[in-house]
Amino acid sequence: MRQKIIVANWKMYKTLSEAEEFMGSLPREIAGVDDVKAVVCAPFLFLERLAVLTAKTAISLGAQNMHWEKEGAFTGEISPVMLKDLGIKYVIIGHSERRQFFGESNFQINKKLAAAFAYGLIPILCVGENRRQRDAGETEEVIEKQLNSALDGLAVEKDLLQKMVLAYEPVWAIGSGTPANGEEANVVAAFMRSLLLKKGQEVSRKVSILYGGSVNPENIAEFTDKAEIDGALVGGSSLNVKTFAALIRIASSERRT
Ligand code: PEP
Repeated sequence: MRQKIIVANWKMYKTLSEAEEFMGSLPREIAGVDDVKAVVCAPFLFLERLAVLTAKTAISLGAQNMHWEKEGAFTGEISPVMLKDLGIKYVIIGHSERRQFFGESNFQINKKLAAAFAYGLIPILCVGENRRQRDAGETEEVIEKQLNSALDGLAVEKDLLQKMVLAYEPVWAIGSGTPANGEEANVVAAFMRSLLLKKGQEVSRKVSILYGGSVNPENIAEFTDKAEIDGALVGGSSLNVKTFAALIRIASSERRT
């Protein structure tokens, strides 16, 4: 059985003291929940300090992006080795805001994905259609293209590949207050799993698939209760520690017992 995962994407929000305050209270807020993996993807600047604060907890840290090279003359970039050195476990790759506002291409995403595996980071690969593509009925076509190009030529052992996390994030649902419908998101997640069959049955079965886009405590169960959806990637509702903790608690099996 796949473990539920709830990932916070803080984007470009918070100061260091706000980040410290959040992380100082998160363990207490989710005390007793041991069946949901909590991951916080914070701005690069905060990761070193947050790594200290989370050292004795089950909370994992992630970055929101990275370069694919180990080192080099790439002004302003952060390498996978730098992240690994701080004890960072996850990295978001191909978030739609990076594709949209920073021109990140499928080619770059493919290189970043390969680098994540090469340097021992767990990638959280984001895919999703925009409003126009959805209205034109192109959702599956878009996702197939994004996923196939991200995985293209990737020479990774199955044991490692199955640790990857995928996030279905319809662009029109991100930050809009209008989430996807749970049933529809489940169908897309099942489609993503079917695409993974090329990598083997086990990979398809074991990869975690998250939903992301305007998730909040009122709607999260609509996604996490679905057979093919293993959790959520959360932006806005991850900024307040009590709200983020509520998401984790709802995703926990406590809710169903
Ligand atoms: C995101 O940034 O990945 C996201 C899903 O944002 P929000 O939850 O705010 O829609």
